[in-house]
Amino acid sequence: MASQRRGALVVGAGQASVSFAEALRQGGYEDPVTIVGEEPLPPYERPPLTKGFLAGHRDDASLVIRSPDWLAEHGVALLAGERVTTVDRDAEGGFAATASGRSLSFDRLVLATGSRARALPVPGADLAGVLSIRTLADAERLRAALHDDGPVVVAGGGFLGLEVAAVARELGRAVTVIEATDRLLARVVSPALSRFFRAACERRGTRVVLDTTVAGFDGEQGHLTAVRLGNGEVLPAATAVVSIGSVPRTELATQLRLAVDGGVVVDQMARASDGHTLAVGDCASVPQFFDRGLPGRVRPESVQHAMDHARSAAATVLGQPAAYRAVPWFWSDQGDLRLQIVGFVAGAQSTVVRGDPATEAFSLLHYRAGLLVAAECVGSAAEHLVVKRALEKGLTVDPSAAADTSVPLRRLLSAPA
Ligand SMILES: Cc1cc2nc3c(=O)[nH]c(=O)nc-3n(C[C@H](O)[C@H](O)[C@H](O)COP(=O)(O)OP(=O)(O)OC[C@H]3O[C@@H](n4cnc5c(N)ncnc54)[C@H](O)[C@@H]3O)c2cc1C
Repeated sequence: MASQRRGALVVGAGQASVSFAEALRQGGYEDPVTIVGEEPLPPYERPPLTKGFLAGHRDDASLVIRSPDWLAEHGVALLAGERVTTVDRDAEGGFAATASGRSLSFDRLVLATGSRARALPVPGADLAGVLSIRTLADAERLRAALHDDGPVVVAGGGFLGLEVAAVARELGRAVTVIEATDRLLARVVSPALSRFFRAACERRGTRVVLDTTVAGFDGEQGHLTAVRLGNGEVLPAATAVVSIGSVPRTELATQLRLAVDGGVVVDQMARASDGHTLAVGDCASVPQFFDRGLPGRVRPESVQHAMDHARSAAATVLGQPAAYRAVPWFWSDQGDLRLQIVGFVAGAQSTVVRGDPATEAFSLLHYRAGLLVAAECVGSAAEHLVVKRALEKGLTVDPSAAADTSVPLRRLLSAPA
């Protein structure tokens, strides 16, 4: 049938798109698969952009997830450097048009458009030296700036902002982090972990200013010279990094009149509100999928979610739809500190501290209704793995025994009563 031969068109060439295409081919999908990405590169890993790549330990070639050769061998056409500007549906699928004038037809449209860095709309935001971080091109600019001299101000005390701050400190720059709320990493981690990271940043020489906004950037001859804070303080700065969160890229979904609510609204099978278009990864707002979690919708921004969610979408296309279930996990390297989170911390009702945070190797085990629902592990990869496996198997740890580090965590696992 002609309609089957148009195949799947994936808009966005990032982590989710590759995982989707790979899962389709593994599942025996024989129709054409095309990935269109506006960045002029094959899909690459973003995590190193604020870690090893920024520090100068990795080059861009090492970031590629799947090479053009691999994609070609698996029958996946990659159109890099092409932005899809319009999409239209017809009875059997639809057409997409790119900025360069290409027309691409599809049976199945997959939105894997990710998100963009949130802009800070204050005076001077367009000065040279004011940078943000989302793409490899952003990271190249930031890397060059951080290997220069002068004070660095980071606007935003989230994961990416703190990772950039850690690299800048390691490169010998004086660094100040400005955070609008009353704690670091407030959106995702527990208050106890926020306190730990504030102290850890300060121990390493980073100044942390909470409850304060960036009001503007001052410059001379078009280049940043200072950052003005909402509290009136003026900080001399050679480089400012704006890292205040991300905005899902939902323009095409809106064009198609799909429901959008903090991301492209999808069901448990990754289907958008028309029941046919799929949306995966960072751009999608998914129904809460973690059994012991909270009701409502979530938009996890992690490599693990992008991969697992894309595989779930591929199963839908392959005619094996299954409700998306995954134990969410995430890591962040803050200089020499590795944080690993499993489960959703939001909604936890009580916490057991396992180990001594002063040693910078410990775990925070989080409970809801008496059951283990999440863990935040710093310098404690083995315990992260134990909790991850426990949550995958539906096991828990008795909170009254959880703090006893003389007993290995795996020996404390039990089925819920
Ligand atoms: C600097 C940084 C560090 C990170 N560190 C970590 C980490 O340590 N651990 C972790 O788990 N996660 C981390 N993440 C998050 C993780 O990288 C993302 O969750 C993941 O990349 C999401 O994959 P995605 O495919 O949904 O979106 P993306 O990787 O953003 O890919 C989407 C692609 O779609 C393209 N696109 C959008 N619209 C169009 C269009 N109309 N036409 C064509 N192309 C389009 C975009 O240009 C982009 O290339 C980090 C993210 C960043 C930015």
